[in-house]
Amino acid sequence: MDKHTLLENELSAWVELHRAEIIETTQAFLRIPSVGGTSAPGAPFGAETRQALDFALSLAETSGLAVKNLDGYAAHAEYCAPGIPSDAPIVGALAHVDVVPPGTGWTHPPFGAEIEGGKIYARGVLDDKGPAMAALWAILALKSCAAPLTRRVRLILGANEESGFECVKHYFAHEEMPVTGFTPDAMFPLVHAEKGIVNAVLTRAALPEGERIHVVSLSGGQRPNMVPDTAVAILKSPAPWAATVARLNAVVGIHTEEINGGEHLTIAAQGISAHGSTPEAGVNAVGILCDALLLLDHHEDQVVIVQQIHAWAEDTTGAALGIAGQDEVTGPLTCNLGVAEIGDGQASLTFNIRYPVTWNSEDLRRRLVTGIASSGWTLSSFTDQPPLYVPLDDPLVTTLLEVYRAETGDQTAPMTMGGGTYARAMANGVAFGPEFRDKDPHDGGPHEKDECWPVEHLIRATKIYAKALARLASL
Ligand SMILES: [Zn+2]
Repeated sequence: MDKHTLLENELSAWVELHRAEIIETTQAFLRIPSVGGTSAPGAPFGAETRQALDFALSLAETSGLAVKNLDGYAAHAEYCAPGIPSDAPIVGALAHVDVVPPGTGWTHPPFGAEIEGGKIYARGVLDDKGPAMAALWAILALKSCAAPLTRRVRLILGANEESGFECVKHYFAHEEMPVTGFTPDAMFPLVHAEKGIVNAVLTRAALPEGERIHVVSLSGGQRPNMVPDTAVAILKSPAPWAATVARLNAVVGIHTEEINGGEHLTIAAQGISAHGSTPEAGVNAVGILCDALLLLDHHEDQVVIVQQIHAWAEDTTGAALGIAGQDEVTGPLTCNLGVAEIGDGQASLTFNIRYPVTWNSEDLRRRLVTGIASSGWTLSSFTDQPPLYVPLDDPLVTTLLEVYRAETGDQTAPMTMGGGTYARAMANGVAFGPEFRDKDPHDGGPHEKDECWPVEHLIRATKIYAKALARLASL
């Protein structure tokens, strides 16, 4: 038997032996409705997120781990193997205790953590409280088996992943960055590359009023990272609306209504929403609306502007902005016109751009400025979340993959994503689980109704995390 096998067999056996406790504590943890809420002393993201941190810390402390709560923003629980220095490098598992609101349509109480058909149903069971418990029990297994590690192992729990990452910003402003680690907040086998995410805002003076039909206002989309599924324009015209209405009502996806006693006409467009990382999967309502507006008899300057917005709304490759391209790791750049606002003399468009991991955001910014130079629009804001990229031959990737493959027999290659996971908060981290490839595709997933996770997956993830942490902490 090689040096890993003995310890790993011991860890597996320990997890099996503690199966009932792992399931029960996970259920109790899930019954805390830790949706981010109103800030209170010691609970910057609401009393329930604080309660969830306290629950995890008390379980960890009772079992002999060293714990620390950082003002309710985040917390950690640590195992320092016997005989190693207390300042040994840290291997981290980074998870979060806050959850998104349950929404409607559940067939199980979202904070009941009921088990039916071998699955635990609860908001947060996948994202991310179930895997947080798996990682905590993994560290408890290391401690109980007195695993002879050379690095410290630390579970870091944030309380604000779903709405701003303030938790990890606060945490890493005060605490050491792990040398390596993972976040159990996506899927197995692992995600080793995540595109960079830019939000770019273009602005210009609003549409000049003319003799003919005039766009008074236009608005579409709520958030940059979603494809707008609705867009509305309000028009003004010196002539009666009858002919315009007849022409527009023939367009699919368009709905018109005269308001203010016929002084204005509203035009509403219906598109199909999609996540900002996959804009090609949606249909941008702003594009449909502009299509309709181009059928009308506008002042000439307005036509140019509407044509421009139309071109940008319908393009999801970045070509219309002059920034299209790709790399071999993560494929093509994607671009989503997520929010459009015209009104009060000002027009603004917010694009959510996901760029390949090997690119540099400063080059991208320069190309964008060049690409829009003759459009009449200017770049007024450019915020960048840099890409995450851990090469396939990095010891972190090879180690995690080895453990996962030994446990499951699944040979699926590591993945890349356009979306952003919690792993970005770490210097050398990847997303590792918790969703297994043999999950039932009809089960509720993260942020969906009836979010659920098979009990066997919870146990399997606990074993995988214990073995992975053990290997990373003896590299
Ligand atoms: Zn999450």
